Amino acid sequence: MNSQDSIHSHYDAVVVGARVAGASTALLLARAGLRVLVVERSAPASDTLSTHALMRAGVMQLHRWGVLDRIVAAGTPAIRKTTFHYGAEAIAVSIQERDGVDALFAPRRTVLDATLSSAAREAGADVVHRATVTGILRNASGRICGVIITDTKGVMHTVKAKIVIGADGARSSVAKTVNAEVLHEGRHPSAVIYGYWQGLELDGTHWHYDLNLAAGALPTNDGMACVFVGLRPERYEAQRLGSFDKLFNEVLVEVDPDLASKVARAQRHGKFYPFAGRPGFIRKSWGPGWALVGDAGCFKDPLTAHGMTDALRDAELLSNAIMAGTDDALAKYQSERDAFAVEFLDLSDEIASFDWDLDHVKKLHLRLSKLMTHECDMVRSFDDRYQTDLKGGSATSQINQAATFASLPG
Ligand SMILES: Cc1cc2nc3c(=O)[nH]c(=O)nc-3n(C[C@H](O)[C@H](O)[C@H](O)COP(=O)(O)OP(=O)(O)OC[C@H]3O[C@@H](n4cnc5c(N)ncnc54)[C@H](O)[C@@H]3O)c2cc1C
Repeated sequence: MNSQDSIHSHYDAVVVGARVAGASTALLLARAGLRVLVVERSAPASDTLSTHALMRAGVMQLHRWGVLDRIVAAGTPAIRKTTFHYGAEAIAVSIQERDGVDALFAPRRTVLDATLSSAAREAGADVVHRATVTGILRNASGRICGVIITDTKGVMHTVKAKIVIGADGARSSVAKTVNAEVLHEGRHPSAVIYGYWQGLELDGTHWHYDLNLAAGALPTNDGMACVFVGLRPERYEAQRLGSFDKLFNEVLVEVDPDLASKVARAQRHGKFYPFAGRPGFIRKSWGPGWALVGDAGCFKDPLTAHGMTDALRDAELLSNAIMAGTDDALAKYQSERDAFAVEFLDLSDEIASFDWDLDHVKKLHLRLSKLMTHECDMVRSFDDRYQTDLKGGSATSQINQAATFASLPG
C-alpha cells in the first residue's frame, strides 16, 4: 500500500480490482456521490495481458466521461483507419467522426487503467494498490456485507460495504466465493502471442485472417506497435516449448509475409507475451450484496478484441443499476449486459474455433460489426437514460440518488 492510501471501516461500495472494469465502476459511483473503496493487488500503472484495441463504443464512453483527452495527452496515437485482410484481399475502413469521436485508440494498459484509476481517485474514491481482498463477509442472513483486505505487511483490514463488486478478472475470487452461476460457456479458446516493436510504421490497425491463423498490428503508446498472432491451441501447445520467438515469426510469415518482413526490419522491445487460451463464459452478475463486472462476469476469447469495451459499457450499466438501488435494476443490468454478451461470446467463440474459411469469417465480422453498431446506440442512449453529470459535477439527481442509496440497509 502507498502512503496516500487510506482504508475506512465503512463504504457504500467496495470494488475488487482497479483495472478497466473496476476503476470505471468506481469512477462512476464516486461521481454519483457514493463512498467507494477500490482494492487492487498489483502496483499502480502496472501492465497486464492485452493487445489494447478499444472499439468505438468504448472510446465514446471515455470521451463522455472526460478521460479520453488524458489518454491522448499520454501519447496514445489516434487510429483513423482499420484494415481487414482476408488472405490477399484487403478491406480498409476509415473511422468517421461521430458523437465527438473521430478516431479509435489502442492505449497500453499502463495508460488506460492508470488514467481511469486516477480519475476514480479524483472523484473521491479511495483507491488502494498492493493490497488483496482475502475474504468476503456475510451477515446473518447470508447477504454479502464487506471484505477482508490484507496489505503487503500482512495486516488485515475489515471493511463493511453495502455492495461488493468483483472486477477481479476471469479468475474472480468474488465470483468463486458467492458461487456465481455460469450461465453460458464457449468451447473454443484460441492461443495468442504478442510483443512490441519500434519503427514499425502503421497506417492504422491491421487485422489479418487466414486458414487456421490470425494476426494483427496496432499502433500504441511510446511509438510502439503491438503485433500479435492467433493460432489453434493445439499448435501452440505442440510448438511452444521451442521458443515463442520462433513460433510467433513462423505464424506471422504464414499469415502475411509482408507484415512479417516489416516486423523483421523493426526493433523489438521487451519479451513476447504468450496466452494459452481460455474458453469464454458468462456468469450471473449480481446477488444479495454483490455484483460482477468486466471479465469477472463475462470473459470472451480475445481474438475479437472486445473485453475492454465490454467492461466500460458494463461499468456504466452496473453503476446506474447500483444507484437505482433495487434488485430489479440489478436484474436489468444482467439482462442488458447479456443482450450483448451472449452474441459477442458466441461470435468470438466461432472465430476462435478457426473452423471457418475466409468467406465465413468475413460474415462473422459483419455480424460483429452490426452488434457493435447496436452497442454504440446503447452507449449513445446512456445520456438520456441516466441524466447524470458524467464529467464530475454534482447534479441534483446524483445527490438524490446517493441519498437514496445511503438509506438502504447495509
Ligand atoms: C492476450 C489477450 C489480448 C487481449 N486483447 C484485447 C484487446 O485488444 N482489446 C480488448 O478490449 N480486450 C482485450 N483483451 C481482454 C481484456 O484484456 C480484458 O477483457 C480486460 O482486461 C478485462 O478487464 P477487467 O478490469 O475486467 O479485469 P482484469 O484486467 O483482469 O483486472 C482484474 C484486476 O483485479 C485484480 N485482482 C484480482 N483479484 C484480486 C483480489 N483478490 N484483491 C485485489 N485485486 C485483485 C488483479 O490484480 C487485476 O489487476 C485481451 C485479453 C488477452 C488475454
